[in-house]
Amino acid sequence: MSDERERDCATPAPQQPQAPTRIDRRRFFHGAAALTVGSLSAPVALAQTAAPQGGASARAPGTNELEAQTRRALRWAGRDPADWVRPRAGAGADHNVVIVGGGQSGVAIAYGLRRKGVGRVDVIDQAAPGQAGIWRTIARMHQLRTPKTMLGPEQGNVALGFRAWFETLNGPEAFDALDRIPRLAWADYLAWFQQTTDTKVRYRTRLIEIEPQGDLLRLHLDVEGMRRVETARKVVLANGYAGAGGPAIPGFMRALPASVWAHTTGQIPFETFKGKVIGIVGAGSNAFDAAGVALEAGAAEVHIFNRRAFIDYQAPAPQTPPAQPPAPVDRGHANMLELTYELPDVVRWRNFLAGERRVASVPLDSLERAVAFKGCHIHLNASLADAAMAGNKITAKAGRKTMRFDYLIAGTGYRIDLAAQPELKQIHEHVALWLDRFKPAPGDENEAGAAHPYLGAGFEFLPRANTGAEYLRNIHCFNLAAALSFGIPVGDVPSTVDHPRLVQAIARDLYVENIDIEAHRRFINLPQVAPNAAPYERAVEGGLKGAAA
Ligand SMILES: Cc1cc2nc3c(=O)[nH]c(=O)nc-3n(C[C@H](O)[C@H](O)[C@H](O)COP(=O)(O)OP(=O)(O)OC[C@H]3O[C@@H](n4cnc5c(N)ncnc54)[C@H](O)[C@@H]3O)c2cc1C
Repeated sequence: MSDERERDCATPAPQQPQAPTRIDRRRFFHGAAALTVGSLSAPVALAQTAAPQGGASARAPGTNELEAQTRRALRWAGRDPADWVRPRAGAGADHNVVIVGGGQSGVAIAYGLRRKGVGRVDVIDQAAPGQAGIWRTIARMHQLRTPKTMLGPEQGNVALGFRAWFETLNGPEAFDALDRIPRLAWADYLAWFQQTTDTKVRYRTRLIEIEPQGDLLRLHLDVEGMRRVETARKVVLANGYAGAGGPAIPGFMRALPASVWAHTTGQIPFETFKGKVIGIVGAGSNAFDAAGVALEAGAAEVHIFNRRAFIDYQAPAPQTPPAQPPAPVDRGHANMLELTYELPDVVRWRNFLAGERRVASVPLDSLERAVAFKGCHIHLNASLADAAMAGNKITAKAGRKTMRFDYLIAGTGYRIDLAAQPELKQIHEHVALWLDRFKPAPGDENEAGAAHPYLGAGFEFLPRANTGAEYLRNIHCFNLAAALSFGIPVGDVPSTVDHPRLVQAIARDLYVENIDIEAHRRFINLPQVAPNAAPYERAVEGGLKGAAA
């Protein structure tokens, strides 16, 4: 199924072009309009999306209702509170908070801070408008892998949630008929959410490096090709799955010319795959999605190499539950994921080990999409090695067999290695890791786990002992590196349950910083000015004379 066909069941049909001063609805549902009208207030933006396009009949069913419903929801939510954050003492900062990443996490966290009254928050993203996040770029599946009923960025306002958005546009039956959320419908919804909540993102703005200056953070930026430095009191790293060490790439692939391989996080030239032989290292969801797209693009053969003896896929729920006991709640309970941080270190560590022992299971539809093609070959208990170029082909060993490929894809996931993240070049060695704070029992050791940052309760980096790098507490790490400390893949839709915790922590720190105790004393000791007594004067026993002021 192509992305366009996928869209058909997700969002209303694209509309005719409309007056230039109005938001182009097709672009709006593609997310681009959220970016071009990011400076509009929500009501204006809504009015524009609702603009008639060649008469009422040209409007998608549900659009009027969505508009009215959203207006109501925003009205009932009330205005955003005023910015209460007092300026930093001494040298000021350009921003209270800079959020690095304008994907689903960054946008939702920015909205959460605004609703808490934290002002001067900027969201930056290196991507061009419409390209932030993964949903229209490197995500290649037809449907999200998570259940359709999970709560998202709406932060308690259900009218701003995916279900309300989708059902209002398409009807409740359409939602009931969904297996899971179509990927592009999710992207459209996020664009709508961003526009509706009027959350602005500074696109084409890349964080190059964080430099500490006392407790302040100097951010070296590339803004549309120009270098500049801005200061912030707080930084949130909402920079995605690859934001704490990058993709994990097998060494033998790195040794090949860049033109013959890619990681699933990168652009893959599927359009050149017709008749070609493709090798894919790894057998997780991303590997199968890439295999599906490659075969749909006409690849003659796709070989998937799996080190394990089986493909771990999400089997449909059994009619009769298995005889084994249910997992204990401290393994992670759907209704209280936000409490997982509170578990003892040893439980969080072992939860991580349990996750490491299995690859995240592949949705059945992703598996079926690839294996439906005759050219799809799965190699179990197999890995590739000794790759080399032979003319314009790649040769590689799979066990004792030598195979030839036109192109290789690494579906090998991500690594956590703060030292490899360029933005953290100046500071990574001061960040406390699990290695520094937790000693696993013999047999429970794990190098990958040990390299994760040991985070504080508000996602903040903690300083390694004796480094004195207290400024690290002003950097909040909301990316995959937080997965061990918080017990869930941070950045995933389910991790939106942790947004309030992060928002609260940032607000708390800004609230208690630089309290002016003398100003506070003066204020509470101000003499009370009695208001005009006229409304009650008549009832005062003995008249006002002599009454206490
Ligand atoms: C292929 C794939 C499929 C997934 N499917 C699901 C799923 O079905 N369900 C689910 O719950 N989760 C899924 N996830 C996990 C998670 O939901 C997504 O990764 C999601 O995009 C995370 O959102 P985010 O905002 O945290 O990060 P991202 O969407 O990755 O956004 C990060 C942003 O940070 C920007 N950025 C990075 N570095 C810098 C910098 N130095 N300066 C400025 N900007 C920067 C990037 O340009 C990007 O726009 C999937 C992940 C992947 C990779």
